[in-house]
Amino acid sequence: MSAPTDLENLIDLMAKLPGLGPRSARRAVLHLVKKRALVLQPLADTIARVAETARECLNCGNVCTADLCDICQSGKRANGELCVVEDVADLWAMERAGVFKGRYHVLGGTLSALDAVGPDELRIPKLLDRVATEAISEVILALNATVDGQTTAHYIADQLEDRVTVTSLAQGVPVGGELDYLDDGTIGAALRARKSV
Ligand SMILES: [Zn+2]
Repeated sequence: MSAPTDLENLIDLMAKLPGLGPRSARRAVLHLVKKRALVLQPLADTIARVAETARECLNCGNVCTADLCDICQSGKRANGELCVVEDVADLWAMERAGVFKGRYHVLGGTLSALDAVGPDELRIPKLLDRVATEAISEVILALNATVDGQTTAHYIADQLEDRVTVTSLAQGVPVGGELDYLDDGTIGAALRARKSV
């Protein structure tokens, strides 16, 4: 058996991407090769650059290409509201909805007894630190409506009690639902109707 060619390697790698299987990976690679100048080369250059520079924002955990992400760097976003999300995908979903004007904090997961994930495995100490040092008036818990998401929300609300107003997203987030799969209007409604914890 001969070694796989570069093209076959590329197809295998693309097939590992979320939302792509082997069949769509083959179609994508074929498209790339046909559009070498227009798509393939710019994509290859951009991937190489992002591979060099992509990192976690030191403050909020967003993915960015500098020490601090654009949101943390923007003075306009320092309005006292801090939105806590599980994952970068949730932050991006909130930004896509365009309804939240404050800053974010990405936990990097949820507490889980089953998987032995405690507060120190998440960015919870950093969250408590930010509430103590930044001028934050409200922490909005935008965690997924899963059992672990809600356990994590209660834990954080307990930690922040008496220190800052804590609210959570209201109706609109279906039970078991994940932010990244909600449409922008639903996220907006859930944010506007947020309730005290
Ligand atoms: Zn940031």
